[in-house]
Amino acid sequence: MAERKMRFLFALRQQGLTDMRVLSAMERIDRGAFVRGIFAARAYEDTPLPIPCGQTISQPSVVALMTQALQIGPRDTVLEVGTGSGYQAAILACLGRRVYTVDRHRDLVRAAVQRFEALGLSNIVAIAADGSRGLPDQAPFDRILVTAAAEDPPGPLLSQLKIGGIMIVPVGQSDTVQSLIRVTRSETGFDYEELRPVRFVPLVEGMATD
Ligand code: SAH
Repeated sequence: MAERKMRFLFALRQQGLTDMRVLSAMERIDRGAFVRGIFAARAYEDTPLPIPCGQTISQPSVVALMTQALQIGPRDTVLEVGTGSGYQAAILACLGRRVYTVDRHRDLVRAAVQRFEALGLSNIVAIAADGSRGLPDQAPFDRILVTAAAEDPPGPLLSQLKIGGIMIVPVGQSDTVQSLIRVTRSETGFDYEELRPVRFVPLVEGMATD
């Protein structure tokens, strides 16, 4: 197990992960705790894996690079849209002051909350909600990470970003290659930067039934 984890971290460095704070968060949070059943044996492979409700836990190198691109400071409040397994939220929680994470599947939120409690991560608030509307009651946010692909960066999320804030969002049609975009809000507007091609499940409006 220790050797598999070592190889996992080495692979992240090879992929261009240089931020030591992000690397140590990836080292601290055991991806094996977020994958269940037959796929658990593959938790340390650099591959996305299926999770309940037909969703996926993202590829670790993509989690790492998105986290690095967010440039989270220790005082930052972060919103994640797309809790999924909770793995990405746990990484964010190592870096920021508080993390709000939302998912449209209540079952995923419930399972993630149990994992956060078991790991003693007390600075994460997980909420079942339609994240395409953001979280108006908790806004504005220093950082926003969307882990499902939108056709365009959702307007409510842009408006819930602080001036000087950064949002990372995969943009594009769900069944093709999407682009990971970094949006930075300035006094006068938004700057957009394309980071790399990615592939995520779609951001779907409204709550799911489970
Ligand atoms: N970050 C997750 C993986 C996310 S998969 C992890 O670390 O495991 C994408 C997630 O986005 C799915 O769980 C899906 O249910 C969720 N999602 C899709 N549309 C959403 C929406 N409008 N609001 C909230 N969550 C949404």
